[in-house]
Amino acid sequence: MNVFIIGIGLIGGSMALDIQEKYPKAKIYGIDTKEAHLDEALKLGVIHQKSSFKELDKAEIVIVSIPVDAQIEVLPKVLNIVNDDTLVMDVGSTKELICKTLEKHPKRRNFLATHPIAGTEFSGPSAAIKGLFKDKTNIICEVEKTAFQLQEKALGIFATLGMRIRYMDAHSHDKHIAYVSHLSHISSFMLGKTVIEKEQNERDIFDMAGSGFESTVRLAKSSPAMWTPIFEQNKENVIETLEKYINNLEEFKSLMQQDKFSEIFQKMKSTNHIKQILNGIK
Ligand code: NAP
Repeated sequence: MNVFIIGIGLIGGSMALDIQEKYPKAKIYGIDTKEAHLDEALKLGVIHQKSSFKELDKAEIVIVSIPVDAQIEVLPKVLNIVNDDTLVMDVGSTKELICKTLEKHPKRRNFLATHPIAGTEFSGPSAAIKGLFKDKTNIICEVEKTAFQLQEKALGIFATLGMRIRYMDAHSHDKHIAYVSHLSHISSFMLGKTVIEKEQNERDIFDMAGSGFESTVRLAKSSPAMWTPIFEQNKENVIETLEKYINNLEEFKSLMQQDKFSEIFQKMKSTNHIKQILNGIK
């Protein structure tokens, strides 16, 4: 099985590692704009061989794992080159523009739109880890537009990697993911920014930061090159979530100013319910 990974970073690299482990006969080819990433991926054993677009005609599976703005440019070109029975998948964090871009492509049936809900704050081939997708959800959009045999092939791989599948239309995906993923990243980035601006001496932050701060600000280490196009493509949904979040922050501040601490207690108490919600989906 010839598997081509375009964008050999955290997600593409982690897919490559799991596919190698579960399918020992698979040959993993890497394509990336950054030559240094390809060299590193080869050295780390994430890929077997460096490759280029010219060789895509020998691919059985192509996984495109690059920032979502680049996906819009690259996916149509990949589909133009591949054979009629090649499966092409993206793993982008937004789905609506990607699906719309490929809507009328003559090889639309070769394409499957996916979003594995798995990741870390790190990027590049050195961030790739084995088992990243185990017990995680993979959201698949517009599955009916993909050829049945290719759907089956993709589902077989996801099951082998230990993933659960959720089907969704691309519009709903972008709306829901704005709340549970995109807003969390903005909140973490802005918390980090607020603290850095206040505490000019970074040593003080480091000394006083407890595990609460560290876990809340973890996502602020994420790559701006990956996140800026996500916010751009999902602008309207993200702005809606930000408005709701800012309203909650304003309300919290107002209750503080009015010394309404019993109401603050009640708001936090009812939000503790998040514990049951999160336990329920594990
Ligand atoms: P990453 O670690 O930065 O890896 C992306 C790789 O693609 C980098 O090596 C990058 O090189 C390269 N690249 C950029 N543009 C390219 C192009 N036009 N052609 C070929 N290679 C290109 O990013 P990632 O976190 O794996 O994210 C990849 C995709 O997965 C994104 O669509 C993202 O939305 C999605 N995703 C991410 C997460 C997460 O938690 N990180 C979770 C689920 C899905 P440079 O570094 O030089 O740009």
